[in-house]
Amino acid sequence: AAKRQGRNAYALFDPEMYASLVNEAQLRAEMETALTGQQFVVHYQPVVDLPTQRLTGVEALVRWQHPERGLLAPQHFIDTAEESGLIVPLGRWVLRESLRQLARWQRPGFKMNVNLSARQFQDPALVTDVRDTLAESGVDPACLTLEITESMLLQDIDAATDTLHALRRLGVRLAIDDFGTGYSSLNYLKRLPVDIIKIDRAFVTQVATDDGDKALVDAVVGLSQALRMQTVAEGIETDDQWTALRRLGCDFGQGFLFGRPVDPASIELLLDEPLPAA
Ligand code: C2E
Ligand code: MG
Ligand code: MG
Ligand code: MG
Repeated sequence: AAKRQGRNAYALFDPEMYASLVNEAQLRAEMETALTGQQFVVHYQPVVDLPTQRLTGVEALVRWQHPERGLLAPQHFIDTAEESGLIVPLGRWVLRESLRQLARWQRPGFKMNVNLSARQFQDPALVTDVRDTLAESGVDPACLTLEITESMLLQDIDAATDTLHALRRLGVRLAIDDFGTGYSSLNYLKRLPVDIIKIDRAFVTQVATDDGDKALVDAVVGLSQALRMQTVAEGIETDDQWTALRRLGCDFGQGFLFGRPVDPASIELLLDEPLPAA
């Protein structure tokens, strides 16, 4: 719309923009109904021990079972939820729902990863919410990993570090998601109370074929080891990527090669297999 204004400064009414605003408002209203009407569901993607491919846990990924449009991935609604603030109650619901599942699935070493949004991370009630939800579920806090992104740390690094410490005191583990896609300062990375680095799919896709990407992953794995953090590679789709990441010493993996995000019943089928002890 801005570009068009250059050519036609009198175009005050932009039909395209109007349409997108209406959709936005409609989407918000529909999402509020969806939240109370229990249209959101959580799917779970396997996380595996990279050398053995054994299941060590899952990542909770929200979907919207839309009455007309079918099952919607987060890309269709997560930004709107973030902008409207609805992400806070939605995120709280995802946490409660996934911990309820974890209580059913709990066995030694099995972990649940849950994504936090920027708004949730800034919410003053976050730490008490997480504490109360953990208590309600009865699961061992050490089995919960909360995922945050680099961009959430940038705005106010001191406040963010305080929040991370407060979450850590609850006994949960913390992961940096999509690592490498934001602006990470190596200087603060070493001071952050973080347990896990999730290497973004952008570096995994070509890890077996591109020397630059291989060198980058190698550097991130080395850095993580020096900082006593663990690494998870995201978006592994091929055997060649798996082999390359294994050789580079990456600890855990996630991707379509090992399993897509699926409904809880499908995860239960995998749980019948023995899980690694730690
Ligand atoms: P993410 O946390 O980085 O999750 C990984 C995404 O990569 C998931 O997309 C997953 O389905 C996809 N993926 C996993 N393996 C592969 C693979 O091998 N190839 C490809 N091409 N993709 C793979 P999904 O479920 O669409 O979620 C997208 C993003 O939405 C997530 O990225 C996360 O940032 C956000 N999200 C999902 N659920 C929640 C939630 O409950 N709360 C918040 N705040 N954000 C969420
Ligand atoms: Mg994630
Ligand atoms: Mg990710
Ligand atoms: Mg990613």
